[in-house]
Amino acid sequence: SSSKLNKDKGVNIQVILRCRPLSDDEKRMNTPVVIFCNEHRREVTAAHSTSNKQIDRTFTFDKVFGPTSMQKDLFDQAIVPIVNEVLEGYNCTIFAYGQTGTGKTYSMEGGGRKLKNGELPSDAGVIPRAVQRIFHTLEAQSAEYSMKVTFLELYNEEITDLLVPDESKFSDDKTKKSIALMEDGKGGIFMRGLEEEAVYTAGEIYKILDKGSAKRHTAETLLNKQSSRSHSIFSITVHIKECTPEGEEMIKCGKLNLVDLAGSENISRSGARDGRAREAGEINKSLLTLGRVINTLVDHSGHIPYRDSKLTRLLRDSLGGRTKTCIIANISPSALCLDETLSTLDYAHRAK
Ligand code: ADP
Ligand code: MG
Repeated sequence: SSSKLNKDKGVNIQVILRCRPLSDDEKRMNTPVVIFCNEHRREVTAAHSTSNKQIDRTFTFDKVFGPTSMQKDLFDQAIVPIVNEVLEGYNCTIFAYGQTGTGKTYSMEGGGRKLKNGELPSDAGVIPRAVQRIFHTLEAQSAEYSMKVTFLELYNEEITDLLVPDESKFSDDKTKKSIALMEDGKGGIFMRGLEEEAVYTAGEIYKILDKGSAKRHTAETLLNKQSSRSHSIFSITVHIKECTPEGEEMIKCGKLNLVDLAGSENISRSGARDGRAREAGEINKSLLTLGRVINTLVDHSGHIPYRDSKLTRLLRDSLGGRTKTCIIANISPSALCLDETLSTLDYAHRAK
């Protein structure tokens, strides 16, 4: 199997396929379904025939989650091992990839995070579930720990801090704090000017997430759907104090990056005109470089082109080496999305 292959090569990259259900509108319009998931065989088939073309292709992934899969299934089966790794002191990254409208934000954030009898709602996504699991595990171990989070957006190769209240009301761009990506020369990176918030409860993280998402959403309406063209990165860093058998104190540090990528339709729309040309180019650069970095890691085929985009520079300490990476490739089951779906299946499949 592919995951065994990855293990043999010492690479921990998992590619998961998730297909959302048809929306109510799509159902009302009797949109044909052209995607068929076989979770047991970990296969996805795209099948469609029209008078001028015939498509019938099957792809295998590390895991497949069909339209009836629940948020909890995805989390328990694919994400828990990654969260455990973070608690062991490693850096890990989870990406949501796919065309706009296929469920990237649903998978990562989901609907609600209001607790009911201590339980998250069934539509809560990966981020609130990961946060809850990290806190539960550390509390159950009575561990001494500290935690901080950052939440940023990468748009046009520029970093915006989603934890800082919106500066736009204080007038022009000059007041905008620009965040610089710096390298420490030892393979580590840090971001000068980025707000790091210390958090002590899961509830605090949910609030931060709401605040950041709201800011991202405002930007989206102001700047004409910016979020489909930007990447957002929510990172949780934990420091856990431990004692060695010799009684020596030791700090374990792990980081989890949760990345909601720009819509992948931007990758194929290279015909962008005017002011969009640069933007499309930059989005392409990040998504294409990410694909190349992952391919190189999987194949062990030499030089890893981290430096070719800000997204991969920013995540450099959490990709490759002793880290776990998971890509959730999101698709729609609808015939109208078939072209984009096939390009997502190809991209995700190449990453294996
Ligand atoms: P994206 O972030 O990729 O643009 P969204 O996460 O915003 O897409 O999803 C688009 C719409 O589809 C939203 O209304 C979302 O609630 C719904 N949706 C996505 N995935 C699912 C799913 N697995 N189950 C139910 N609804 C979903
Ligand atoms: Mg989204």
